[in-house]
Amino acid sequence: MRPSPLLPLILTVIALVAPVRAEDSLQRYDWKLDDTYSGAHMADFNRLRYEIPILMRQSQIDIAVATGLDFQEGWRHPILVRFVDGSPMGVENVLAYVELLTDGKRQAQRLNINLGAYAKEKFNFDKVFRHELFHAMLNDALEQDAQNLPRWLHEGFAVYAAGQGDQMINSYLSQIEAGDEEGFINGLEGPHGPQDYVEDYLALKYIRDRHGINSLQGFTRALVAKKGDVAGAIEASCFEDWPSFERNARAYSISELKRIKRTLRGAQSGPY
Ligand SMILES: [Zn+2]
Repeated sequence: MRPSPLLPLILTVIALVAPVRAEDSLQRYDWKLDDTYSGAHMADFNRLRYEIPILMRQSQIDIAVATGLDFQEGWRHPILVRFVDGSPMGVENVLAYVELLTDGKRQAQRLNINLGAYAKEKFNFDKVFRHELFHAMLNDALEQDAQNLPRWLHEGFAVYAAGQGDQMINSYLSQIEAGDEEGFINGLEGPHGPQDYVEDYLALKYIRDRHGINSLQGFTRALVAKKGDVAGAIEASCFEDWPSFERNARAYSISELKRIKRTLRGAQSGPY
């Protein structure tokens, strides 16, 4: 999958699809599937309407294990999965995209599945769905604070949660000459383009590989508890201040890229 450099989330302020009582913080919602569609892709719709509930259940479990975002008790805000026949300009993935609907106090989300693109890209669907679902889960858990999170964290965590990292590294490494890894890992913050997804992902992989899965899950919990304070959550879960984390994640990412590049080169020049 080649992600576009465009917005990861569509932030639209429109009427809520369902009311949320803000004072009732313990209320939880089941996700809902809008089981209606009347477009040109009925065969795909009839297949996906049965597959989506299975994919949703499995994806939520996988994301909980990989990231610590646990939705066993339900969603804090309503979420509707629905089928559409196109995608607006600027969405990250044409195959599926999240709309966050908020009036500043309450929120609801839609996870749209674009049947118009599905026919051509179904091989990619499960991972794209999981990537977009992770965006929706983080938006749900962090509420308003999700909108202040840096782009690298939204995307790196979504790539990590969806299991897209290795595939992206392999495709980007084919474009990097040996020795260019240092320039490629150019800092988590600042302007964000398609090539930054790999660096973003590697920062999350750094936490898991160097500090362990418990620290990564602890990072997620701290991020929610600290209302999106990324540096505070890193410090609480990895015991590294922000400058140390940036430095260590960068060194790890460069060495990871070099290691994988060597592995790929070895595979290409093998005896067969
Ligand atoms: Zn994304």
